[in-house]
Order: sequence, then structure tokens, then C-alpha cells
Amino acid sequence: MTSISILCLWLFTGYIMSNYHVVIIGGGGTGGALAHDLALRGLRVTLVERGEVTSGTTGRHHGLLHSGARYAVKDQESAIECIEENTILRKIAPGTFEENDGLFVAITDEDVEYSHAFIEGCAECGIPTQQLSKQEALRLEPNLTDDLILAVRIPDATMDAMRMPLRFFATAKKNGVDIKTYTEVLAIRKQGEAVTGVQVKDHTSGKVYDIGADLIVNAAGPWSGKVADMVGVEVPIRPSPGVMVAVRGRWCNMVINRLNTSSDGDIVVPQRGLSVIGTSSWVVDDPDNLGLPPDHIQAMYNHGTMMMPVLKNAPMRAAWSAARPLIGPRKADADTGRELSRTFKCFDHVDEGVEGFVTITGGKATTLRGMAEAAANVVCEKLGIEEPCRTREAVLLPHTAYYA
Ligand SMILES: Cc1cc2nc3c(=O)[nH]c(=O)nc-3n(C[C@H](O)[C@H](O)[C@H](O)COP(=O)(O)OP(=O)(O)OC[C@H]3O[C@@H](n4cnc5c(N)ncnc54)[C@H](O)[C@@H]3O)c2cc1C
Repeated sequence: MTSISILCLWLFTGYIMSNYHVVIIGGGGTGGALAHDLALRGLRVTLVERGEVTSGTTGRHHGLLHSGARYAVKDQESAIECIEENTILRKIAPGTFEENDGLFVAITDEDVEYSHAFIEGCAECGIPTQQLSKQEALRLEPNLTDDLILAVRIPDATMDAMRMPLRFFATAKKNGVDIKTYTEVLAIRKQGEAVTGVQVKDHTSGKVYDIGADLIVNAAGPWSGKVADMVGVEVPIRPSPGVMVAVRGRWCNMVINRLNTSSDGDIVVPQRGLSVIGTSSWVVDDPDNLGLPPDHIQAMYNHGTMMMPVLKNAPMRAAWSAARPLIGPRKADADTGRELSRTFKCFDHVDEGVEGFVTITGGKATTLRGMAEAAANVVCEKLGIEEPCRTREAVLLPHTAYYA
């Protein structure tokens, strides 16, 4: 073969590769980060979202950039993912986070007992800790209860639930991703075993039409089970809602966590002029039907007040619920969801007889970039594309660029 024909073959192959078309279903943080990753690897990408971007769970979470400490004792895989992504996100999204750190506070002897496993678990996961006396912690956070015994400082941070992922959407859009909002996937088209595209409805015009695809990624968070049903495959997802209560007044500057196993109302996140208390946990079959149980709102107040008595009389600004996409058996007997890991998984459904259909689900808002990297690796391998992930270093555009 002559050098000219080798060059032509290389150019041709490169052209074909960069023209593979991937459709991403779901415009939460996971879908946005995946669109960004695939665009940097040279793929043609269309993202479809049935509402506005981040209108699912992503825009309604607590706003905590996890250090992973919350999971360091019982869910170390997730803890390690969180501390790694916490570090990367601060580099690629400068200015997005309040670098305020967090305190895990011990207010009972049982909490103190737990602190040993907690500090050990953090060390095993690479999460830095600093133990503080009652006096030191109260100097940092004077609204903590006088029952405080000790506290442990860790690198949590506050983030804006919408603006952080918007930076991924903004950069993806600049790199050519077609983001179609208010566009709901109604059906997934197949020919033989292979998917060929999606049928969508544009809710602004009422138009129903098809979009062709070489590969489809299901990034529909707690809805990923419903989307997988469209091609007759199973995603083991348990939508697990939680209630959050925002009260008027910024009653702490750091993220405050109870130093014990996860339970109701054990986190307070300062958000602008508000303090957000969260959260409860239960499981549902349908992520479109969550409700807002009044006793959960009261529980947020009761438990939050144990750590910070000042919250008792803080007027409520808002209360809402959202569903975590947790990986676990779909139809298992009811449980609280707390026993399920916060890690993520990427499923290639070829094993179930469907080619060209991949699901990325589970995880946290904190781990959106890592989830996208895992899914993009699978997508590229399936399409035979050898492009490395670049999202660990690429600094993201500001969130305002999304509207440009
Ligand atoms: C109470 C609570 C508190 C939390 N707090 C935190 C926290 O402080 N920090 C943290 O890191 N994580 C937190 N999380 C977890 C985090 O919010 C989620 O893991 C993350 O937001 C999931 O993002 P996602 O993109 O995978 O899903 P989603 O944001 O839900 O995105 C999926 C999207 O798919 C769309 N969709 C569904 N079906 C279709 C269809 N047929 N066609 C087109 N689009 C469709 C939906 O509209 C939705 O926008 C919390 C979760 C909950 C529930």
C-alpha cells in the first residue's frame, strides 16, 4: 500500500469514526457530563431531555460536594469515587464551589464511639480528617449545640445544584452537542437486535419525529428503569426519594453532618441565605410519583435541631422531594434505600440481546464526571474509537455560557 493510500485510509477511517452519532437520553448532570466527554472524543452527540436540563433529580439535590466521608465506613467504593471527583471538579470548575469544608459533629457517646471507625474509614479512602475539640468547633460554628463533644473536619463543600452541571452542558454545546430540551423519548427503534434511533415528542410544538442513532445511552437517572423497559431490558434501579427543607437564614458556614451512620435530617448545607436540612429516605416504584410526606418535613426540623438548636424556629422557605437513582433489585420488598450503595454502574445491554444500548446510572451529583468517563469508555470501545478521556483536565466554561 502506498503512503498516499495509507493516508487516505486513515483520513477515511477518522472521518467515519468522528461521525458516529450517539443519542443520550436524559439531561441531568450525568447526561450533561457524558455529552461533554463524548464531544471531546470527537463524536457527534444529540442529548434529549423531556423537561429543562437539570429538571430531574440533579436540579433538586442538597447541593453538597461530597468528600466521601459520609460513606467512608459502610460504602467505601462510593467514598473513594467521591473524594477523587471532589478533587477533580474543584480543578475543572473553578469558582463553582464554596470552599467551606464540612464538620461531622458528635453529640452523644454513641457518636463518639462511631468516630473511631469514621476516622479509620476516611484514612482508608484517602479522605483527609482533622479532629477538633468542642471549643475549636464552636469557634468555627457558634450555632452548634452545647451538647457537642467533638467534631471532625473534612473537605466537603457547597455547590449550586444547577450551575455546576450547567458548566458541562455549556462546554458540550460549544463543542457541537445538540441539546434538545422539552423533547421526550417515547420509543426506541430497533432493527433486529440493534437499536437504530429514538422516537421523540417535542413538547413545545407537539411534533412527534424520529432521531437516528448508531448508539443510545440511557442516562435517565431514576427513570433509567422505565427507559430500559422500552427495549425490553432490565436495569436494577430503585428510585429512592428524600425530603429536603430549606429554612430562612444561613445558620452555619460549613456543611454540618451528624457523626454517625446515615439517618434522617443529619446534614445541614448552607446555600446562599438559606440552610437546607436533609434528608429522609424511602423507595418507590415510580419516580414521577414521590409525594412530600408532612412527617418527613417535621423530622428534618427535629433532627436538624439536635445538631443546631437555632433551626427550631427558623421559618421554612421551601420543602421538596427528589429521587435518588440507586442500584438495587427493582421489585424487592420495601426498604428505606439507605442500605444501597451510592456507587454507579454502566450496563452494556448486549448481554441481554440488545446491541447499541448502554445505561449509566446510580452515583451522586458529585461523581457525574466519573460516571461519564466510565460510560464514554464503553461507548468508544463498542464503536472501535481509540480516543482518551480528556475531562479530568479540560476546564469547563462558566455556567452562563450555556445561555449564549
Ligand atoms: C434527596 C436527595 C439529596 C441528594 N443530595 C446530593 C448531594 O448533596 N450531593 C450529591 O452529590 N448528590 C446528591 N444526591 C444525588 C444526586 O442528586 C443524583 O445522584 C444525581 O442528581 C442524578 O443525576 P442523573 O443525571 O443521573 O439523573 P437526573 O438528574 O434525574 O436526570 C435524568 C433526566 O432524564 C430525564 N428523562 C427521564 N425520562 C426521559 C425520557 N423518556 N425522555 C427524555 N428525558 C427523560 C429526566 O427528566 C431527568 O432530567 C441527592 C439525591 C437526592 C434524592
